[in-house]
Amino acid sequence: MEAGEQAINKRTGKKFEEGEAVTAEEMFWCASCRPCADGYPNHCEKLQEIGFSCDGAFAEYVKVDSRYIWSLEELKRVYKGDDLFLAGSVVEPTSVAYNAMIERGGGIRPGDNAVILGGGPIGLAAVAIMKKAGASNVILSEPSEPRAKLGKLMGADHIINPFKENFAERVLDITGGLGAKLYLEATGLPDKVWANIEQSIWEGKMINSTVVIVARSDKKIPVTGEVFQVRRASIVGSQGHSGHGTFPRVISSMASGMDMTPLITKKIALDEVPENIVLLRTDRTECKITCLF
Ligand SMILES: [Zn+2]
Repeated sequence: MEAGEQAINKRTGKKFEEGEAVTAEEMFWCASCRPCADGYPNHCEKLQEIGFSCDGAFAEYVKVDSRYIWSLEELKRVYKGDDLFLAGSVVEPTSVAYNAMIERGGGIRPGDNAVILGGGPIGLAAVAIMKKAGASNVILSEPSEPRAKLGKLMGADHIINPFKENFAERVLDITGGLGAKLYLEATGLPDKVWANIEQSIWEGKMINSTVVIVARSDKKIPVTGEVFQVRRASIVGSQGHSGHGTFPRVISSMASGMDMTPLITKKIALDEVPENIVLLRTDRTECKITCLF
């Protein structure tokens, strides 16, 4: 990378040195609107997104404000050569899952149980984060065989196929009748999975469960207030990956054994990008497709 005169490296507090390996946040928060000023950059009112509302990173060079840049130097302990940058490319989705499970969901204590519904990149990253955080049972609910396999690779202790098995029965069976501290809605089909989540909270012994909604959906959810009252449970929404020390903590977790690179199931060249973007819309065999230069 090359750095401008004003670009400060948060790792050292000084100017970037040439050759520093870095990764970038994808959300360009403005730092001056009310949510940003209050410390909630994920909720910026003037949000720009690289690759969406401004030119993206499918280019040899991309110019990014240093406030969104995080050093990958720590990862050099575990990743060599191109692998360092492959690891860097999955810091962003992992940070979305970290923000959901830890920042918004309040995290877990070692020994707690976690249930992740949906084995897309965010759900699978949440599996690894819960394992790293010390969950005794990380349960992934995912009907697709390749995604379920990947879930195992990321550290899931148990897989539920919600099309073939009774979700709540399985969760209660695995957790000895307790249920989970954290449930992550990462399917984008909250109207379809909500009854299952409520049933396991209602029939489990766990008090203070939190359901984190991370997948985007405008579907109405049929919430039963009584379940959340009697079980002292909460529902929180989660958006984004910026702020709250999330990126550097994800990088440090990856430097100390949390390997996120299995999320990358395919590596492609720049000219293969358009066809693979189309493919990802329908084919759930691949998880993260990373473009290499
Ligand atoms: Zn803002």
